Amino acid sequence: MLIYFNGELVPPEEARVSVFDHGLLYGDGIFEGIRAYEGRVFKMEEHLVRLYESARAIMLTIPIGMQQMGEAIYRTMEANGLRDAYIRLIVTRGVGDLGLDPRKCTSPNVIIITDRIALYPAELYEQGLRAMTAPTQRVGVNALNPRVKSLNYLNNILAKLDALQAGYPEAILLNPEGYVVEATGENIFILRRGVLVTPPAFVGILEGITRNAVMDLARGMGIPVEEKLFCRHDLYVADECFLTGTACEIMPVVEVDGRPVGTGRPGPVTARLMAAFRELTRSHAGAAARSDLVGARGRGERS
Ligand code: PMP
Repeated sequence: MLIYFNGELVPPEEARVSVFDHGLLYGDGIFEGIRAYEGRVFKMEEHLVRLYESARAIMLTIPIGMQQMGEAIYRTMEANGLRDAYIRLIVTRGVGDLGLDPRKCTSPNVIIITDRIALYPAELYEQGLRAMTAPTQRVGVNALNPRVKSLNYLNNILAKLDALQAGYPEAILLNPEGYVVEATGENIFILRRGVLVTPPAFVGILEGITRNAVMDLARGMGIPVEEKLFCRHDLYVADECFLTGTACEIMPVVEVDGRPVGTGRPGPVTARLMAAFRELTRSHAGAAARSDLVGARGRGERS
């Protein structure tokens, strides 16, 4: 396996950061999780825009532009002979001293890891997932806005631990006001009386690329979609529920806090969206590989 490390492709044992890197010391940095299907990176421009926006929000200057980053992703995939891949992009603040001051970190590290991923076993997509609402709250937008995909995922990990300790594979988080926001690494949708509802980005979620793609797909299929606040009660009375994310794609949720969602089986609208999403990733893959780099060209200069 070869890792992209600041412009070089090196074996994993040579891809090392310093113990003084603020990414390690403080979780100061950002990342992205991207997928490639049949040799083509899915929604690359959207992921790169989110990465560069996360960087901007924390005043981290990524040393290479978006176009170069896109090329580096393809270079890494090709060096590893991967056509279907999970791509992890990491930018750390870089080496500083033991104080917090990020201005002392002058050289951010850019890392790309390409590998395969299977978050959940295949049968779970047919059976659906059991989830619980986590006692751990999602961090509020005025503390650390979840729209920044930062290297500090301890909030999500604590919620994941809540669920795992209670015997559930996944947790659903509420924000400090009690509104449902997202799962530990996925966005959430519910279906109620034929309307698909997902929390708006401002409420404290990562604005998922899969979420946005699913909303577009649903609208194209004539399913009404609303970005609206909702709470635990709405989960309990939902007809269907599912999670979305780059790694898991679309995962039906069939139980929340011990209550069955709808019939307790993955719902028909969820199944239609799962099929449509699979089709989208296939047709996307069918398009000319690297044509997505054209979209990213020019933006790099502004980053
Ligand atoms: N929320 C969180 C907290 C995440 O980490 C992720 C995964 N990136 C998502 C939602 C889903 O986002 P996407 O569809 O862009 O992978």
